[in-house]
Amino acid sequence: MRWNQQSALDPTSGADAGSDADTEAGTEAAGADAPPAELFGLKGLVRSVRTPEFAGVTFHEVLAKSALNKVPAASSMPFTWTINPYRGCSHACVYCFARSTHRYLDLDSGEDFDRQVIVKVNTPEVLAAEVAKPKWSRELVALGTNTDPYQRAEGRYSLMPGIITALAEHGTAMSVLTKGTLLRRDLPLLARAKEDVDVEISMSIAVYDDALQQTIEPGTPTTTARLATVRAAANLGFDVTVFLMPVMPKLTDSVDHLDAALRAIKEAGASRVVYGALHLRPGAREWFFAWLEREHPELLPRYRRMYAKSSYASKDYRAWLSRRINPLIDTYDLRGSADDDYPMTRRKDRMQAAAASSTLTHAASLTPPPQEALF
Ligand code: SF4
Repeated sequence: MRWNQQSALDPTSGADAGSDADTEAGTEAAGADAPPAELFGLKGLVRSVRTPEFAGVTFHEVLAKSALNKVPAASSMPFTWTINPYRGCSHACVYCFARSTHRYLDLDSGEDFDRQVIVKVNTPEVLAAEVAKPKWSRELVALGTNTDPYQRAEGRYSLMPGIITALAEHGTAMSVLTKGTLLRRDLPLLARAKEDVDVEISMSIAVYDDALQQTIEPGTPTTTARLATVRAAANLGFDVTVFLMPVMPKLTDSVDHLDAALRAIKEAGASRVVYGALHLRPGAREWFFAWLEREHPELLPRYRRMYAKSSYASKDYRAWLSRRINPLIDTYDLRGSADDDYPMTRRKDRMQAAAASSTLTHAASLTPPPQEALF
C-alpha cells in the first residue's frame, strides 16, 4: 500500500515548506498581518495571518526544524515520542494544562493561548525526512499530548494527513487524542494505516451537560458531535478510548453526571474509559479560578481549599472518585482506568513490547535536537 496520495500541506498556507527553517519573519503576503513584536524572536516565523473564517484568531506560521519530540526518560508518559503541529489551541478549554507553555513565547496563558496559534506548517515534510532515517526506532508516536492536532486550524492547514502518511509509510505506530470532530475527515486514512501499523484513537469528552460544556470548553465541538465521531471510528473497527477527564468537583462528579456520561460513551461504541480528577497547573489555575468566579462563585472557597497546596486533587478526593466511578464503569461493561495508573501501565506495556519485538532492529534511536520553543 502507498501512503503518498494525500496532500501533505495546504497550499493556501502560502508558507514555503522547503526553505530554510531559520527564515526570518516576513509580512508581505496578501492577507497577512505583522506578527506581534514579542514573536519576532521566534525562529522560523514566516508570517502571521488572520482570516474571516477564524474571527479573533491569529495564526503564526513557522518552519520547524524538527517534528519529533523525545519525551524525557524520567517521564511517566506511556510514549517516547510526540508530535505537536500546533501550539496554542482555539478549543479554549478553561482548564487546559498546556496553557503555561504559551508563556515561553511571552504570550499569556489565557486569551493568547486561545487566539494566538503557532502553526508548524512544514511538519509533514520534516517528519517524513526524520522517519526515513535508518536510525529511526519506529517507536509509537503520540499526537495530541499537548495541544489538539484536530483543532479548527487543522481545517485550514491539513497537516495531519501528511503526518499520518509519513508515520505509516515508515512502519511507525501512532496514537491520536483529540476533542476535534475534524478527525472524521482522516478516519479512512487512519483505517488504512491501521492495516500496517498500530493506530490508537482516543476522544476527550469530559462534560455531558451542554450548558456547562459551552462555557468551559467554548471552542470545542459539542459532546454529541464528539460522541458521533467515536461512533464513526468504532464503526471502522477502532477500539476507541474516551478520556472522561477532567472530572471537576461539584460540577461533573455527581452520580447522575457520571452515569449519563458512561451510558453515552458505551452507546457510542467506545471500548474503554480513562478518567481523572481536575489538575490545575500554573497557567490553567489562574484562568480556571477567574472562570469559576464568574460562573460558579459559590464553589470558589471549596476549590481554593482543594487546590491550595497542589495542582492535583487530594488523594482522598481521588480515592472517593474511584469508589464512585468504578462500579458505574463495571455496570456499563467498559474497561476503565484512572489517569494516575494509565501512563505508568501503558509505558510499562510498551517497554515490554518493545523489548520483546524482534522487529526493533534499530538499536540506536533517532534523537533530534530538543526544540527550544516548540513542542
Ligand atoms: S482541546 Fe486540549 S489542547 Fe485544546 S484547549 Fe482543550 S485541553 Fe487544551
